[in-house]
Amino acid sequence: MSGCGSARDPAEDLRSIAFCLERALEPSYRVRAFRTAAAVVDALPRDELEARAAAGSLTELKGLGKVTALAVQESLRGEEPVYLRRVQTLGDTPVSEGAAALRAALQGDCHTHSDWSDGGSPIEEMALAGRALGHRWMVLTDHSPRLTVANGLSPERLLRQLDVVAELNERFAEDGGPPFRLLTGIECDINEDGTLDQEPELLGRLDLVVASVHSKLRMPRDEMTARMVAAISNPHTDVLGHCTGRQVVGHGRGGKGRPESEFDAELVFAACARFGVAVEVNSRPERLDPPKRLLRLAVEAGCSVAIDTDAHAPGQLDWQHLGCERAHLTGVTADRVVNAWDVDDLLRWTRRDAAGAAPAR
Ligand SMILES: [Zn+2]
Ligand SMILES: [Zn+2]
Repeated sequence: MSGCGSARDPAEDLRSIAFCLERALEPSYRVRAFRTAAAVVDALPRDELEARAAAGSLTELKGLGKVTALAVQESLRGEEPVYLRRVQTLGDTPVSEGAAALRAALQGDCHTHSDWSDGGSPIEEMALAGRALGHRWMVLTDHSPRLTVANGLSPERLLRQLDVVAELNERFAEDGGPPFRLLTGIECDINEDGTLDQEPELLGRLDLVVASVHSKLRMPRDEMTARMVAAISNPHTDVLGHCTGRQVVGHGRGGKGRPESEFDAELVFAACARFGVAVEVNSRPERLDPPKRLLRLAVEAGCSVAIDTDAHAPGQLDWQHLGCERAHLTGVTADRVVNAWDVDDLLRWTRRDAAGAAPAR
């Protein structure tokens, strides 16, 4: 994110500003101006950019405003844009040594969204940001059909997305950059009856399936337990997403917060351990789900854990340390975190159902 002298890339500076704003949970519309401007700058030859900066006509370009044009001018002069310096520390929460060590052991993220569902950025930008963070792999998990408010993917759209991901991976393999693989996946709604909201055949083709409750979060405890256990025992499920559905007061929509769903946590985590499903530690600042007392229970039950960002924008991919902090505080060690595995071990685990192997007891 830093740099000096005349070698600055104005588009990269604009993206760094966007990244910092996203990490600070700024709404996508506020960040979009910077990503749009970065794309405009990318498309212009450097000499034209410099000529326009000298003539003061950058703002005549569609997609560049006063703030973004100023950042471009500073960057072209070899200076760190003032705006970038101002936003750099936003959302950059310091963590304990133990959490930092855990974060350093992670190689990927199992839960991310693109603008194909309710994310704010294209698949490629998300993937490149994950790679720039040092990830070796990242799973794209856009929403399933019934979550229409989040533009959930129909089977046809999901199939098309698989082709897009395959094409991106071919490019990543050839571009000389660090090794990185974008894995296919879904954040699949757990229907009220515990079935999953996507065609089983299609779920079987994906690299990883996160199963989450998004509807009827207040259903009675017994029904919610049965619903979750049914989803966990589904051979396609790999990760149980944000299990309580809570939203922490002070964040999220209107800052009202949302209470935890009620279920028999011991039974649910015993099922996760039995069927080899990882319990997600959701790193989103407004979720921080599950709460620590439940995460401790999951650890005691012998569950694996997935420390995910649930990122809806590139900068949010940098939230993993928040989940690491909670994991560290509740006794989660790297050996039980699936994100610490390399891509081969990860896929061996997610394909345990297809291989017909008995899950670990
Ligand atoms: Zn979700
Ligand atoms: Zn999600």
